[in-house]
Amino acid sequence: MQNSNSGKKVCIRTFGCQMNVRDSEALLGLFLEKGYKSADNPKDADVILLNTCAVRAHAEHRVRSILGSYKKLSAFSRQSSASKKNKAESRKLRADSCKIIGLIGCMAANSGKEIFERMPHVNLIVSPAKLHKIPAYIEKIKKENIRIIDLEDKEREEDFYNASYRVKPGYAQVVISTGCSNYCSYCVVPSVRGELRLRKPKDIIAEVKRNVSLGIKKITLLGQNVNDYRDKQGVNFVDLLKMVEELDGVEEIDFLTPHPKNTTKELFKLMAKSKKIRKYLHLPYQSGSDKILRLMHRGYTKKEYLALVDDYKTIVGGTIGTDIIVGFPTETEEDFLHTKDILEKVRFMGAYIFKYSPRPGTHAQKLKDDVPQRVKEKRHAELLELQKKISNA
Ligand code: SF4
Repeated sequence: MQNSNSGKKVCIRTFGCQMNVRDSEALLGLFLEKGYKSADNPKDADVILLNTCAVRAHAEHRVRSILGSYKKLSAFSRQSSASKKNKAESRKLRADSCKIIGLIGCMAANSGKEIFERMPHVNLIVSPAKLHKIPAYIEKIKKENIRIIDLEDKEREEDFYNASYRVKPGYAQVVISTGCSNYCSYCVVPSVRGELRLRKPKDIIAEVKRNVSLGIKKITLLGQNVNDYRDKQGVNFVDLLKMVEELDGVEEIDFLTPHPKNTTKELFKLMAKSKKIRKYLHLPYQSGSDKILRLMHRGYTKKEYLALVDDYKTIVGGTIGTDIIVGFPTETEEDFLHTKDILEKVRFMGAYIFKYSPRPGTHAQKLKDDVPQRVKEKRHAELLELQKKISNA
């Protein structure tokens, strides 16, 4: 029997972190199993979904403008303008075509209500916790010609991770936890993805085994802060890594992202001993100034960060990468020089360097954004240039 969705196409555009990349992959897998095909070009798709990060203001502005540009593709907006002229044409459009345009993920949680009101052609808005509901919502929109907004923050259903589709052959990302309860003062994740929620070790291991049965040998374990993993039975992140490492068929393991405040020597010792865990650590330091680190609620000092890097280099001897924010409120030239000093001392393999922008709902938003834009740009360019030299050395 032919699937009623055969011939339908979905285009999912992803902006942001690896967690979003994995969420889009899992969601696309659900659509493919329902008979949809994947479309690269939104114009070819019946369903267009933007899975968007809310961490940077820049990404959010870009997505607002893309959403605006989709108005001309939307059957909903064509219906409303057609209905003024010709009711029969409007009915025909409704029956023939339903271009569904959705905003999903962190930006939906952050600005979904406002976008739902301001952009009537956007007919689906769903928070990160409810992504598993999207295929069912699409069917409902098609049948009932309605708009749906679901911003509930709730435990994600395990079924979301069941589809076998993988973007890169031989490689799989496995989510170990969602949300975050660290509340770094600049970060919107706890408010858009909710408090930390752990997947059960048995579900994580079952997903890794499913990947192995598909011939996948490389696994990345994903969490906003993987070191926060500790279930009610006391299984922590290092235990989880050991469990994945013991599985036959897994050949390479990676993880993203550890937080410096609770990265342990126990983790380094396992990395050093393991033949499967990649000897690479992505360890965001964000700032080298103790004053700024305090304002960011990061829970470590410059000295502690550098000592941790020393431990890593001594015990594991692998490579290291990082994230940095310049221009956080009150950042002086002296604060910036401390940040630059860490970059010079550690000699990272790579660094993601960002200019601070205040995000709604964060603690830092209450601070005056007092570093002038031109100063942020100068510091940003200076660090980029320095990192380029280090990476090319
Ligand atoms: S650890 Fe901090 S920066 Fe990372 S997701 Fe949690 S709150 Fe955001």
